[in-house]
Amino acid sequence: MSRVRVVKSVRQKHEASADLLQLLNEFRRMMNVCIAVGIEENVSSLKTLSLKSYHRLSCGILGYYRLCAISTATGILRNYRKTKKKNPRTRFPYARKLMLTTCYGFKIQNGLLRLPVRPRQYSYVRLNNHTLQVVSGLSVHSVTLTPDSLTMSYSKETVEIEPEGYVGIDRNLDNITIASTDGTVKTFDMSKATVINADYRYVKSRFKRNDSRTRTQIFSKYGEKQQNRVQPLLYGVSKRIVEEAKTGRCGIIMENLTGMRRLYRKGNSQSRNYRARMNSWSYGELQRQIEYKAGWEGVRVIYVSARNTSKRCSICGYKTLESTQRRLWCPQCGTIVDRDENAARNLAAGGLRFSPSGPPGEAMVEEREPENATLILKVDGGKLGPTDPTKT
Ligand SMILES: [Zn+2]
Repeated sequence: MSRVRVVKSVRQKHEASADLLQLLNEFRRMMNVCIAVGIEENVSSLKTLSLKSYHRLSCGILGYYRLCAISTATGILRNYRKTKKKNPRTRFPYARKLMLTTCYGFKIQNGLLRLPVRPRQYSYVRLNNHTLQVVSGLSVHSVTLTPDSLTMSYSKETVEIEPEGYVGIDRNLDNITIASTDGTVKTFDMSKATVINADYRYVKSRFKRNDSRTRTQIFSKYGEKQQNRVQPLLYGVSKRIVEEAKTGRCGIIMENLTGMRRLYRKGNSQSRNYRARMNSWSYGELQRQIEYKAGWEGVRVIYVSARNTSKRCSICGYKTLESTQRRLWCPQCGTIVDRDENAARNLAAGGLRFSPSGPPGEAMVEEREPENATLILKVDGGKLGPTDPTKT
């Protein structure tokens, strides 16, 4: 049994007081000083940046806010170095948003968050019932404030459940299908997310003004709205999947996303529209939510490559043929099975045969090894035809 500390966060709205706004402003200024020092002196380690920049930060402000500013700036500098390697023309980083993250000094009491703004002078934020309920009895270890929102990260210690079975998750255009090694199959309708995304794609495609700045602005606004509408859907589905796995004492098996994306990429003889729809609602986001919720509940998550999950028979492993109504027919054992269900079952079994006795444990390890690109490209071997790398 391994005990791990898992982290989650809760967010609420608020309106920053004048005191708090002043602190946020000061914090942003400090961050930008640290970033400038980091670039000038070419440092990106937390320790060196602290040594080089601490004395240059205004001493009127509490010491731990100075440390937090340095630590946030370190993160920004690291990101900048990484992107600069890929694109040498990356602009210098600069903190624009008013945002403060701290792990020190705050206190929750009488339904309020108390935050020091200066030595022995505090700013208060009223916490709503939901937030209070969520964090009650747990340790809150950091607080992030912006002028209108408050996020608290809290944690608990948990024990990972040793899985007695597995749940495979298969992602499709309009649904998420899950299959458990105990035989249960469930489908979650995602057509709403597909429709929502299709609407925005249409809006984007009709956009005619040839002004790249306006375009970026408008698109990012649409992107935000779109996310706000899809997010609750993903939230609900991920919650139910994790509950399902937890009740059945199962681990969760998902497809490796890099493989998925590659599959729905140009040159796989799928129409542009089909690819756009397949990539439209964020499966990555769903995976992230599942992983995060599963971690909290002590449910194990395993990623496997998408190889062989869609075409192979989940009973005997033979290559199946397309049947009517999205079903597959296996010429070897005669099974007729729903396509999505078959894929989910293959995943649950770690890409191996699906039998009532469950997946063989040792096979999982083998499947978890990273695949190279050619193998992943071959997933839909039959469809690929001329683009099959071995034939060209
Ligand atoms: Zn078969």
